[in-house]
Amino acid sequence: RARLTVDSPEEMQNLGRSLAKLLRPGDLVMLTGELGAGKTTLTRGLGEGLGVRGAVTSPTFVIARVHPPLTGGPALVHVDAYRLGGGLDEMEDLDLDVSLPESVVVVEWGDGKVEDLSEDRLHVIIDRVVGDTDDDRRVVTLVGYGARWADTDLAATA
Ligand code: ADP
Ligand code: MG
Repeated sequence: RARLTVDSPEEMQNLGRSLAKLLRPGDLVMLTGELGAGKTTLTRGLGEGLGVRGAVTSPTFVIARVHPPLTGGPALVHVDAYRLGGGLDEMEDLDLDVSLPESVVVVEWGDGKVEDLSEDRLHVIIDRVVGDTDDDRRVVTLVGYGARWADTDLAATA
């Protein structure tokens, strides 16, 4: 578990780039934070760090967008779970042209939906600080669940 302060959108994107270095095919990243918290901004950095095709934008109006790898790394599957009723197993019906075990799956609005999918996941929680006069400041909490993340020192990366 790690907690850090992020003072700008650029810094959030850089955090995504740093976190990308930790990620491997099959990883699941769950992003929690209200609208405008910076979930998509962080994912943009993840995409840059992973080296995938296409700019990461808000997946609103689509459920999942696949960014294929530019080199040998994993694809990035960026999911907006807002309209996914049941859970990510519904994603099997989405006809993604990638295999999820070979991809990094990043889910916005996945709270209560992705937990059953895998015991292994990196949970990124983005909060504004109540009463903070700095509109751009965010507090990011990183929590790794499962054996996959047990030995990762998140504080060292962030
Ligand atoms: P979400 O996906 O959580 O709804 P977005 O990443 O789409 O959020 O949007 C975040 C908005 O907040 C952007 O307009 C961004 O410029 C702004 N912003 C301001 N400060 C930050 C910060 N520290 N981190 C991320 N975004 C920030
Ligand atoms: Mg978003």
